[in-house]
Amino acid sequence: MLEKVLIANRGEIALRVLRACKELGIRTVAVHSTADRELKHVRLADESVCIGPPPSAQSYLDVPSIISAAELTNADGIHPGYGFLSENADFAEQVENSGFKFIGPTADTIRLMGDKVSAKQQMQRTGVPTVPGSDGALPDDPDEILRIARDIGFPVIVKAAAGGGGRGMRVVHNEEVLLSSIQVTQSEAQAAFGSPVVYMEKFLQRPRHVEIQVLADGQGNAIHLGDRDCSLQRRHQKVIEEAPAPGIDQALRDEIGAACVKACLDMGYRGAGTFEFLYEDNAFYFIEMNTRVQVEHPVTEMISGIDIVREQLLIAGGAPLSIKQEDVVLKGHSIECRINAEDPRTFMPSPGTIKTFHAPGGHGVRVDSHIYSGYTVPPHYDSLIGKLITFADTREAALAKMRQALDELVVDGIRTNAALHRELVTDTSFMAGGVSIHYLESKLEHEH
Ligand code: ADP
Repeated sequence: MLEKVLIANRGEIALRVLRACKELGIRTVAVHSTADRELKHVRLADESVCIGPPPSAQSYLDVPSIISAAELTNADGIHPGYGFLSENADFAEQVENSGFKFIGPTADTIRLMGDKVSAKQQMQRTGVPTVPGSDGALPDDPDEILRIARDIGFPVIVKAAAGGGGRGMRVVHNEEVLLSSIQVTQSEAQAAFGSPVVYMEKFLQRPRHVEIQVLADGQGNAIHLGDRDCSLQRRHQKVIEEAPAPGIDQALRDEIGAACVKACLDMGYRGAGTFEFLYEDNAFYFIEMNTRVQVEHPVTEMISGIDIVREQLLIAGGAPLSIKQEDVVLKGHSIECRINAEDPRTFMPSPGTIKTFHAPGGHGVRVDSHIYSGYTVPPHYDSLIGKLITFADTREAALAKMRQALDELVVDGIRTNAALHRELVTDTSFMAGGVSIHYLESKLEHEH
């Protein structure tokens, strides 16, 4: 069992990790930039260390500072949260080489899944369905490239192997622009990610984003906790998530869940992870794996009753997974709205001091947030200030609770996207369930 965990993150996820540590009797170390002294989890942690100035590169991404803080405070584990260094294989390696437990998979696993070409090949070997496309990186020979594109059929999407965050992708509709589009994507990929390697796959026209949550101990045990639908996105950023994904055939759910479990066992996966899929015409197509806890993990916790961060901590402490697949009972429906400090129409970030904050409450309402009245949202980081999560027996009831919770929510002094959420939870298409990943952007285009 871990005794003292350093939380290498900020905001709501740092608080989420701190809570799970405290409940397990694990002591906590907060690390923070000079802009983040007032963060709630910094006040609640047993110890805190200032690791640098506001820019992330000099604080939350500064590996030597974080490792020194762990040494200084005698921590035995480091939790990376999401974003920042959470999927950085070199960081995971340095953490372990310095004698600390990295609360996540091994550096080798992060590397394997971090490269989209190697991740996709690993899924094909293991029997997880992938988007039809080139077998690996694209060759140099133009004739060969054309042949591959014709085999797949237009439109195709050219994607950087090292890409992330929705960047390094280009949709190609016909042969005439194929080679030039590939060239542009290659040079963009080189500039943004330091590698020109690209691959090609079928561009799915109206898919949904459906993902599978897994837990594995790296000791031969793995389970899945069902699926989530995260199709409501803007610029590839998720806005609302829910579990389970509406309207998917149970046999298909079981099949894809079992395939993800097998994939975990085949690669010796350790920790929490998510297999992301595009879902179209009753079929799943793997796009990537996130080797960390995700923002939207609470909706799965609500329907499974399993605390995912607690499991991460137990697994990193060396305990074999105590939950068996047959023990996982998914019940009810959960929805999460991401509350951002941003203008609901222009989406411009809106940092500043929160004058008044009233959190909603009641049965089946969960608020994961680090903000409080008087807290100043700094301008240097992601605009997520909290997550509003509801849980009920049915999707309709969870939506009704969300409408009430959004009505109760007060965040004064800065702008938030709460108005957008109020609109979305009364949107007839979203209420019907199963909209595609393009739905939100086309709605915004037409109505605003
Ligand atoms: P990133 O790592 O940058 O998030 P992903 O591979 O997860 O990249 O893809 C991001 C998004 O791009 C997907 O959620 C989807 O909206 C779109 N996308 C990716 N591949 C395809 C595809 N083959 N067909 C249609 N859309 C795609």
